[in-house]
Amino acid sequence: MMEQFIEIKTANPDSLLFYRMGDFYELFFDDALVASRALGITLTKRGKHLGEDIPMCGVPVHAADDYLQKLIALGHRVAVCEQIENPAEARKRGSKSVVRRDVVRLVTPGTITEEKLLAPSQANHLMALGRVRGEEALGLAWIDISTGSFLVAATAPDRLLADILRIDPRELIVAEPVFHDTEFRPAFDVLGRIVTPMPPSLFDSASAAERAARYFGLATLDGVGAFSRAELAAIGGAIAYIERTQKAERPPLMRPMRQDAANILFIDAATRGHLELLRTLSGKREGSLFNAIDRTLTGGGGRLLAERLMSPLTDPAEIGRRLDSVSFLRAERHLADAARAALKGVADMPRALARLALNRGGPRDLGALAAGMAAAAELAQVFAGSAPPEELAGALAAISALPAAFRDHLGSALADELPLLKRDGAFVRRGYDGELDEMRALRDEARRVIAAMEASLIEETGIRSLKIRHNNVLGYYIEVTANHQAAMNGNDQAKARFIHRQTMANAMRFTTTELAELETKIANAADRALAIELEVFDRLVAEAVEASEALRSGAQALAVIDVSAALALLAEEEDYCRPEVDKSLDFMVEGGRHPVVEQALRTQGGEPFVANDCDLSPEDGSHLGAIWLLTGPNMGGKSTFLRQNALIAILAQMGSHVPARAARIGIVDRLFSRVGASDDLAHGRSTFMVEMVETAAILNQAGERALVILDEIGRGTATFDGLSIAWAAVEYLHERNRCRAIFATHFHEMTALADKLERLSNVTMRVKEWEGDVVFLHEVGRGAADRSYGVQVARLAGLPDAVVARAREVLSQLEESEVSGRAGRLVDDLPLFSVAVSRAPARPAIEDPLRTAFADIDPDDLTPRQALEAIYRLKGLT
Ligand code: ADP
Repeated sequence: MMEQFIEIKTANPDSLLFYRMGDFYELFFDDALVASRALGITLTKRGKHLGEDIPMCGVPVHAADDYLQKLIALGHRVAVCEQIENPAEARKRGSKSVVRRDVVRLVTPGTITEEKLLAPSQANHLMALGRVRGEEALGLAWIDISTGSFLVAATAPDRLLADILRIDPRELIVAEPVFHDTEFRPAFDVLGRIVTPMPPSLFDSASAAERAARYFGLATLDGVGAFSRAELAAIGGAIAYIERTQKAERPPLMRPMRQDAANILFIDAATRGHLELLRTLSGKREGSLFNAIDRTLTGGGGRLLAERLMSPLTDPAEIGRRLDSVSFLRAERHLADAARAALKGVADMPRALARLALNRGGPRDLGALAAGMAAAAELAQVFAGSAPPEELAGALAAISALPAAFRDHLGSALADELPLLKRDGAFVRRGYDGELDEMRALRDEARRVIAAMEASLIEETGIRSLKIRHNNVLGYYIEVTANHQAAMNGNDQAKARFIHRQTMANAMRFTTTELAELETKIANAADRALAIELEVFDRLVAEAVEASEALRSGAQALAVIDVSAALALLAEEEDYCRPEVDKSLDFMVEGGRHPVVEQALRTQGGEPFVANDCDLSPEDGSHLGAIWLLTGPNMGGKSTFLRQNALIAILAQMGSHVPARAARIGIVDRLFSRVGASDDLAHGRSTFMVEMVETAAILNQAGERALVILDEIGRGTATFDGLSIAWAAVEYLHERNRCRAIFATHFHEMTALADKLERLSNVTMRVKEWEGDVVFLHEVGRGAADRSYGVQVARLAGLPDAVVARAREVLSQLEESEVSGRAGRLVDDLPLFSVAVSRAPARPAIEDPLRTAFADIDPDDLTPRQALEAIYRLKGLT
């Protein structure tokens, strides 16, 4: 057996091998060490190999999903090795033969289908990256086996990471040479362990089209779409990997469909992280935008919402269609409520379908299809007689195309209560199959006869404690306590009647001819009943697979209705407004709020969120958006304001209403944000370096349609350096990128730029000073902050009084010195990027009595006594 194990293990070196032995999956050697630690299960040993004990641990087959889940979550891959013949067959081959075993499936994070292993509202993508020599463009293909979706897109090295993060795969496979290519190293480092190198043969673009065509049973892939060679390489890689991991089974996939990146708002990797769309920076769902806006009721709805959030659109017409659905359901609240009532409890149809097609499904998966179709029929009722807008009308059409015959068939065939496993039987409804009912009656009747037999045996023997029992080894037997032995086989007649089966410590077990006969009858009837049920199951699965396209479209329609109704409810509950989205370069938000902070403040029960306007629209006559330079103290609400505007743009373009009184958004094609400082120490980059890399990406890439959100650029270095970089960055944004932007800074000197850059306006977070403290109003107003209030904020934070007092002293000294005066003059002295400089008044020099007094002294003109007096006078001024 160990030989067999080692052979199979050698063929699957990068997976933990689950080796089936009876009711357990056993792990050996290093696998056992890894798994016992990861799963917290006991490590034992079994036999010896090369004179050493073999470490072993095992998990029971019936609980294997739970253990698999843990291992997959930890990034392991598992090869499931089953017995593929029974012991009798093995014996037939030779008395000492070990049963044949083989790996039937590789379980990897990107190829799972089990309900327990999947997060309900998260897609589970396996992605392949294709690259071919001589082609600059790269190809990405991603498949969700659990739903069958299969998409393809072209990408380029400089946007690869952003595109991957947008799709957020669980597993990314790349050819070994690509994996080791230094060009991609930074991206793969960010992605971490989801990236797996694979042999380059998987990605062979020449054979990819043929491989794909074969998978879909087509003569050629030409009819499916025209793909670049790199895209083909990715498609081929993804399919080859699925074939490799699924072994015998072929998950039903939709044909690959191209997604056009031009239709999607580009959000780069850093921005995605900073904005905490699906997860916070610490990786949690709570606190993310998704969590704040998700009101969906079904897994499919949750997945669609996440997909829309991660890939907002850039086509106003398409966005408008989504917004129409939300507005319609918001206005027709009774329809939204009724639709949601129908959707409640709808199980995951596409995932159930995938499991059934993969031969991993059970009666409950059929139940999920039935429930989904029942909900769909109810939804059709709900909307009957109403005139829903285009997108919803399309969804309702898909719903009406669901196979009614199959729905009725499921309805008549499936029982109300369904077992998890088909081998448990009892899932076919009474009245569906005549023979099945007959077999069940026979079985149940025989059971009743046994109960009656027990009563008569008690009568016959006079043993009140006599019982007829059942176990898997003996089947049915008669049991009496040991002290009744004599009554059961004290004489020959009794001996002939009660056939002894087993003696226990304090009980004896017998059978009788009638009991044995009845037992056979029961067993036969039960076997036959189960066989019939399994036939019914297979027929229903075949029907489901046959109807899979309609079922998938129907499920997608349910998701669309779920998302639209959920967004309508969100808009109503949270008082959002429908944004106007058009092709202009406007960005006007009236009374905007931060969707996540607003909800958090409400939960905390403190001050309500203060709404703020933002207007970056081009001035009359200008065709370029504006830049807002935002100053204000720390904790004033700058970051919140920056982010809320970025989030409003995302929400608007994903087709949601937005947290504002009114909003008009001219399509944003790229969104960049650089907010908050985070050290990337794992990659050896300091805060400052990270900040500069991200700023560089923005300045290099943002075009006129971009929206740029920059927070505190230059904070990570010395004041002069920082100010200079921030200064130059704003000039560049204004002159070169010429996009809409909000730039928050604590360098007050920069407000002087407003005199020089015509589309730049100064705004500030208002504060009130009150008895030496600051009160944050969280209001954005025109103008510039006159001070940074850093010392006051430090005091609020609980810095010791002595430190605060000393800081005030140092500050007043610094303010009087050159530092602030010099920067103020930059506007005069530094015409950059050939900007015409309007002469701005230099910042008025601060009156310094000490300095004036010094200036009045001429040392050559003083007697020793006058000098001494001057010293006393100067001392008096400090
Ligand atoms: P800054 O970036 O200026 O340091 P933040 O944006 O981090 O300030 O805001 C600090 C805190 O102030 C936030 O955690 C939030 O609780 C509160 N806050 C910010 N903006 C608002 C607002 N508009 N209304 C109410 N509270 C706000």
